[in-house]
Amino acid sequence: MRRTIISIVVLWLALFAGDHALAQQEQRGMREFRVAIDIGHTPATPGAMSASGEMEYSFNRRMAAVIADDLRRHPGIAVTLINEAGREISLLQRGDVANQAKADLFLSIHHDSVHERYKVTRRVDGRNSRQSDRFRGYSVFFSDKNAEPAASLEFAKQLGRAMREQGMTPTAHHAEKIPNEGRDFVVPEYGVYRFPDLLVLKRARMPAVLLECGVIVHPDEEQELNTPERQRQIMMAVRSAVLNLSTWLRETRR
Ligand SMILES: [Zn+2]
Repeated sequence: MRRTIISIVVLWLALFAGDHALAQQEQRGMREFRVAIDIGHTPATPGAMSASGEMEYSFNRRMAAVIADDLRRHPGIAVTLINEAGREISLLQRGDVANQAKADLFLSIHHDSVHERYKVTRRVDGRNSRQSDRFRGYSVFFSDKNAEPAASLEFAKQLGRAMREQGMTPTAHHAEKIPNEGRDFVVPEYGVYRFPDLLVLKRARMPAVLLECGVIVHPDEEQELNTPERQRQIMMAVRSAVLNLSTWLRETRR
């Protein structure tokens, strides 16, 4: 009888201690790091058309899903996938979804085109295709009018560097001095551009970045973006940049 009572007391202490440790962890603010992944464009307004005639939205949707699945498997990271249902939503509403989810980071996934003056028309499968061999590579955009400009730039640099380390190269074509381009190329070696008035980034109240994964009007780069190897390189780059940013935020906010 005495033994039983002692075991119950020991068991109760063990359970209490376990709960206590969890409560302490919560008090220390060690909650999950939530990443909002935004699928650029919608089925009705699908963005750029690739060299082979595929719409940008389907590239964005596929890449966002690969990134989200990977991050969700990582302990301590949670994911909000924005507009998975493919509804018509505005750029501002995308930011609102991330704000409501109290995301720690916002990443918008896109695939790139080039200015019309750099495109040529070729016959592909019996139709005219507008394509370009001139530019290929990734770009990373941040807005210094976002609520977290320093952390946004930090994540843009981490992501651009990780993309490079995965073997991809940035493109400089958004810095061309022509209409709708001429962006401020702040870290050329990592493909980082400053784009102050990019609405989708301005609305988010957390660090926010837009990734152009590659140029889909470039026929060779489009094919590469369709391979699992390239998708894996992008996925690994995002994972590494997300982990680095969560550490950087913890250290700078301590
Ligand atoms: Zn786009």
